[in-house]
Amino acid sequence: MKFSNCFMPTTKETPNDATLPSHQFLIRAGFINQQGSGLYNYMPLGKIVLDKIRSVVKEELDNAGCSEVQLGFVTPMELWEKSGRASKMGLEMLRIKDRKNNDFVLSPTNEEAMVELVKNRVNSYKDLPLNLYQINTKFRDEARPRFGLMRGREFLMKDGYSFHESIEDMQREFALMEETYKKIFTRLGLDFRVVEADSGAIGGTGSKEFHVIADSGEDTIVICDNCEYGANIEAAVRKTRVIDTVKLDLSGKVETPNLTTIDEVSSFLKVKPSQTIKAVIKKAIYEEETKVVVFFVRGDDELEETKACNSVNALELEDATEEDIKAVGLVAGYVGIVELPQNITYKIDNELKDTHDMVCGANEENYHLCGVDVCCKDEDIYADLVAVQEGNICNCCGGTLGYTKGIEAGHIFQLGTTYSAALEAHFLDANGKSKPFEMGTYGIGVSRLIAAVVEQSHDEKGCIWTKETAPYLVDVIVSNGKKETEFDMAEQIYKKLANTYKIDTIFDDRKGKKDTYGSKMADFELIGFPYAVVVGKKLQDGFVEIIARKTGEKAEVSIDNIDYLCQIIDALKNEDYSIKDAIHYVDNKK
Ligand code: ATP
Ligand code: MG
Repeated sequence: MKFSNCFMPTTKETPNDATLPSHQFLIRAGFINQQGSGLYNYMPLGKIVLDKIRSVVKEELDNAGCSEVQLGFVTPMELWEKSGRASKMGLEMLRIKDRKNNDFVLSPTNEEAMVELVKNRVNSYKDLPLNLYQINTKFRDEARPRFGLMRGREFLMKDGYSFHESIEDMQREFALMEETYKKIFTRLGLDFRVVEADSGAIGGTGSKEFHVIADSGEDTIVICDNCEYGANIEAAVRKTRVIDTVKLDLSGKVETPNLTTIDEVSSFLKVKPSQTIKAVIKKAIYEEETKVVVFFVRGDDELEETKACNSVNALELEDATEEDIKAVGLVAGYVGIVELPQNITYKIDNELKDTHDMVCGANEENYHLCGVDVCCKDEDIYADLVAVQEGNICNCCGGTLGYTKGIEAGHIFQLGTTYSAALEAHFLDANGKSKPFEMGTYGIGVSRLIAAVVEQSHDEKGCIWTKETAPYLVDVIVSNGKKETEFDMAEQIYKKLANTYKIDTIFDDRKGKKDTYGSKMADFELIGFPYAVVVGKKLQDGFVEIIARKTGEKAEVSIDNIDYLCQIIDALKNEDYSIKDAIHYVDNKK
């Protein structure tokens, strides 16, 4: 490819709403352009990167025995009604009507459609297992589309679905997909971590996420400093804390006028916050109703919203307003575990079970209770509700837990029979018995990965693509396009690299007034090709220069024989060499 033929409008302007480097650079370097909120066009360079990521994903999945299909992007609402998700999906699912007033959906995911595809076509256990995937457009009407490709509304996802005769076989496939995903992210050159994830209402340990480690990640990941344990904070667990409670001088109802926070109450009563019980009041949203729910955690713990939401099987939680709280007879700042108004749904954190001498609100304005024992016998009232904190102890090995930030790039999930049962997708097992398929589902954010690569790999000048994701590996730059000898040599190098050595090469052949060496280098740095070969003044002495974008390393190389230069580039392509090492390698081979 030649710069002069390619449409790659780079700009110095940063869009106002672009806070993340990946968002800024992808737009400035002409990879993408925004068409509307969460809606993006891919320009030529963006399309090349998208296709490269897509082909790595496809190659590894095909190697693992998966088959690619492509489902329609628009799905009939009926399908979603059958599975029960028409009402559960909420506002993220965009609904549309055709001219005959029929209802459709722009697919946010495709469990239903894939189950329908397999239903009545796979009838026997002999045809199982089966793993089908697609790399296709999804639409989610996200509440806050942001960060460019990171959280778009229209985006490209790889979604895979597997079908099995038994849970064991589904779990075997789940493990295979974990390995396959690791290969994909490793090939893409990413620093990533596989972590335990929230499985929503389905529960269990059957869900893992793949996070690209980056400070800008939206997810908090809990990792152990000593073992392999890693989990999204939504699912992270810790070793149960052992907290010494001191015998209080006070007991029963104590006046605490205008003291409503844990800090105020604990310093007034001279107890540690860990000996108090914090009440967090939320509004739980269900399909047909909303209700106020109280979550009790230790005073020095924080409520983890996803855990809390799962514990009451709600679709989501919202903050309760003062009116909501009053309306159900609760007193904000003084809510306690004893004598809650009747009919209030509440949950108590597991770590509060059997604690004694605690302090909590008295459910009466200006009063707290001291010496409270938590001894509710109803096991269902307890749940893991708290966010693991940095410094907590790892439940696996006793190491110390800490936080890091991650971008969720993939998610694999042991689904079970939820969808196959709802849609009556059955097969006959070895005993001739009809059963719903055991299923797994596996997603990768293909377009999000473009942003994730740049988020992890950039500097103040622009993108730094990894070798597998770069639109072109080498940018051949002629420093002064008007100098014929330089231009001819650059063109020869470009042709040999591209045609003989089959290396993805672009030729910056621009000759205009503004196309100075400086502006070409600025584009090289902004776009982020891994290597540049500069043909400039040194050509008179028989040299060109190779530059590595990531390290800034530069080396002059003799150009008496173009193949010598090409072999060095080829070595850089295939091995993790510095330019110096690559030159050594080629010299020694001679
Ligand atoms: P998130 O928690 O980030 O909203 P999710 O849990 O809703 O993601 P999944 O339903 O598991 O996402 O979808 C599979 C993959 O699709 C995710 O791992 C992510 O990489 C990608 N993805 C999800 N939502 C978006 C989006 N709005 N824009 C781009 N990629 C997305
Ligand atoms: Mg997810």
